[in-house]
Amino acid sequence: MKQVYNFNAGPCILPRVAVEKTAQALLDLNGSGMSLIEISHRSKDFEAINSECIALWKELLSIPDGYHVLFLGGGASLQFCMLPYNLLGAKAAYVESGSWAKKAIKEAKLFGEVAVIASSSDKNYSYYPAIADIPRDADYLHITTNNTIYGTELHGSIDSPVPLVADMSSDIMSRPIDVSKYGVIYGGAQKNVGPAGVAFVIVKEALLGKVKRAIPTMLDYRTHIAEKSLFNTPPVFAVYAMCETLKWIKAQGGLQAIAALNRKKADTLYGYLDNESKMFVGTADKASRSLMNICFVMTEQYKDKEEEFLNVAKAAGMVGIKGHRSVGGFRASTYNALPLSGVQALVECMREFEKKF
Ligand code: PMP
Repeated sequence: MKQVYNFNAGPCILPRVAVEKTAQALLDLNGSGMSLIEISHRSKDFEAINSECIALWKELLSIPDGYHVLFLGGGASLQFCMLPYNLLGAKAAYVESGSWAKKAIKEAKLFGEVAVIASSSDKNYSYYPAIADIPRDADYLHITTNNTIYGTELHGSIDSPVPLVADMSSDIMSRPIDVSKYGVIYGGAQKNVGPAGVAFVIVKEALLGKVKRAIPTMLDYRTHIAEKSLFNTPPVFAVYAMCETLKWIKAQGGLQAIAALNRKKADTLYGYLDNESKMFVGTADKASRSLMNICFVMTEQYKDKEEEFLNVAKAAGMVGIKGHRSVGGFRASTYNALPLSGVQALVECMREFEKKF
């Protein structure tokens, strides 16, 4: 197979072993003579996979009692609406730290008053806005812990007087977190925890059943809690691959070990940008830098060389480093499964390019 370094922002690189196990299960699941995508979702085989996957979530994140782990369709985008449907009675507070947060805010407004208590839109979301004055009459505070497009991440914890809700699509399982500080954590799986096609929701049951409105059955978290995410036909393939991805995380030594490796990768690239490069410069405020999505551009002097570098990097096997159109330049996503050698290869490629000028 061709050797590439996959820096895609999501869907993205997954642990090779998880992909191989899934490929094998696609051909023959556990010697059943059937493919993973041919079995019944009510079969013992799939129930075991579903239960194991839930158990791994609980183990890796030390999820306390009173919380449920759900696997749902519709991506993180459906959660932008499902969340306020279930939790927003009159008012909710939101932090606008990027375009995904903005999309979440738009949906929440359909359900009640939304107080945007912090925003970094004034500087194209290049920093994580300070969170203060959380209104005590809000039903919850919504944050996006990692802004995939702008390469900023919330560092440090928030003490919220109201339930804290987080979109963790792009930094879940990149480090240990204290789940007890949150009311709901959700995201699309297609970065650190699996392929596209499934969203995860970790929800504190005590928060549910408080809103007055009628909730359609499929959009009611309680439906999926009661049925262990098997109310309707689940995305069997995506859940299987997610389970294999979580097994790999566990085999690496869990989230402490994963976090240390992620820190090393980020330090390697940010270190080069800060201490060595005259050509490339990071776009995110230093205090807000993401460990998952590293955004950088060429300085004014070399701006016209961006296209050329993209071509050089591509020829060297670097995939997916073109920046999002909202930021331009480059974005290297360094999710869990990307090895340190991938970042080292990218830095080497940048160094060599720079030498030419
Ligand atoms: N939130 C964040 C932080 C994201 O990065 C993304 C997707 N990249 C989404 C939400 C939307 O996820 P989905 O495509 O699963 O709806």
